[in-house]
Amino acid sequence: MRGTNAVVVGGGPSGLIAAEHLASAGIQVTVIEHMATAGRKLLIAGRGGLNLTHSEPLDELLGRYRNAPAQLLEAIRSFTPADLVAWCESLDQPTFVGTSGRIFPTALRATPLLRAWLDRLHRLGVQFRLGHRCAGVDGAGGVLVHSADGLVAIEAGVTVLALGGATWPRTGSDGGWVESLVSAGLVVNDLRPANSGFGVPWTEHFRQRFAWQPLKNVRLTFGSRSVRGEAMITDAGIEGGVVYALSAELREAIDRDGVAELVIDLHPDMSDAQLQTRLQSRPSDSSATRRRRAGLSAVAIGLLNETATGDGGAKSLRLRLTSVAPMARAISTAGGIAWTEVDDSFMLRRLPGVFVAGEMLDWEAPTGGYLLQGCFSTGVAAAAGAKQWLGDHRQEPVTDEPGTEQPGTEQPGTDQPGS
Ligand SMILES: Cc1cc2nc3c(=O)[nH]c(=O)nc-3n(C[C@H](O)[C@H](O)[C@H](O)COP(=O)(O)OP(=O)(O)OC[C@H]3O[C@@H](n4cnc5c(N)ncnc54)[C@H](O)[C@@H]3O)c2cc1C
Repeated sequence: MRGTNAVVVGGGPSGLIAAEHLASAGIQVTVIEHMATAGRKLLIAGRGGLNLTHSEPLDELLGRYRNAPAQLLEAIRSFTPADLVAWCESLDQPTFVGTSGRIFPTALRATPLLRAWLDRLHRLGVQFRLGHRCAGVDGAGGVLVHSADGLVAIEAGVTVLALGGATWPRTGSDGGWVESLVSAGLVVNDLRPANSGFGVPWTEHFRQRFAWQPLKNVRLTFGSRSVRGEAMITDAGIEGGVVYALSAELREAIDRDGVAELVIDLHPDMSDAQLQTRLQSRPSDSSATRRRRAGLSAVAIGLLNETATGDGGAKSLRLRLTSVAPMARAISTAGGIAWTEVDDSFMLRRLPGVFVAGEMLDWEAPTGGYLLQGCFSTGVAAAAGAKQWLGDHRQEPVTDEPGTEQPGTEQPGTDQPGS
């Protein structure tokens, strides 16, 4: 183990909160980020209002994390939604609770929050190495980074990896870390799209007419779960909040059976009997007119035609989903570093001194603020573990350790501002 400093790899929310907690404890922190700026996915999340967390009771919130391991639940209990709100407000970004119980910054975007956060990190002395791609860990607690001089080992007393999942790769989260950790002997479960859309083989007529039109106020059911809200017809299938909410179960069914049948109630505000009465009134009118008069939208009518569902099926239209939409378009990533690799302090058992946080761990949750909450909580937990480790293994930095010349060894430093 070398040095008394910390290196955090990944400038997303889980890495930055880990950096903040470590620097607040007086530890010299360097954040390594391969994009030119930090927090790009956070900014993308801000386009939807930046749903930071959720206001429901903690036990209900914990229940949203699918097959959640004890470490994740404990991390959220230790850094709760209330803590996240207090942190956000400490950056002069007030929050509010929306009608659905979701919590947002009043600014409804991420830019002012990220700016204030990066200012705080700079004041805490956190250094940023932007545009540096991490190639893996060096086996001695530090990391290997591509630089103009080739592959360089960055020394660290402790390292936090927070490289994110593999969705929206243009934000920098490209899942490129998997190979290096697998070759270091770690179990990494396949990265899969979570909170994703699904493919439906639409006819050309339907695609041209209805792609990118919202399917408002519908109830989707799959298995024993039903969700009400809005979906979006895409050129290749269907996506949107209600679809994401069922996406874990739908993905598993498609993996298993090659197809998943989604049941759609196109008019959840009316009972079947009421809807049938409306649909059958004035039988001399065309079916399209009767359907419109019954309150069905043009897209809903299009779907009835597309699936050759008669009026009797408007409350239970069956839509066959045949594929999971590509990872690049999904909101989050399922799979990742297996929890068996991670101890209670978020340290990798096989790589002492290396801690992990955020979406690169194998957990899954629906949209609703649960993703950012999980990232912040695991970032705080990894920082606490790293701080403890550094305290237990504190040594003076070794600058001329044999065997660290190949590849070149550097002390961490800064070369660019982090915004
Ligand atoms: C469109 C969209 C909307 C979303 N909206 C919400 C929302 O409203 N609420 C919510 O809770 N969640 C939302 N999310 C999810 C949330 O943004 C992510 O869960 C969260 O950003 C993950 O944080 P992270 O720090 O683990 O990873 P990331 O934010 O992905 O950060 C990882 C960082 O590591 C860097 N990196 C990766 N590989 C390397 C490497 N080899 N070397 C150096 N650096 C590297 C990346 O460039 C990136 O900056 C949304 C996601 C998307 C795509």
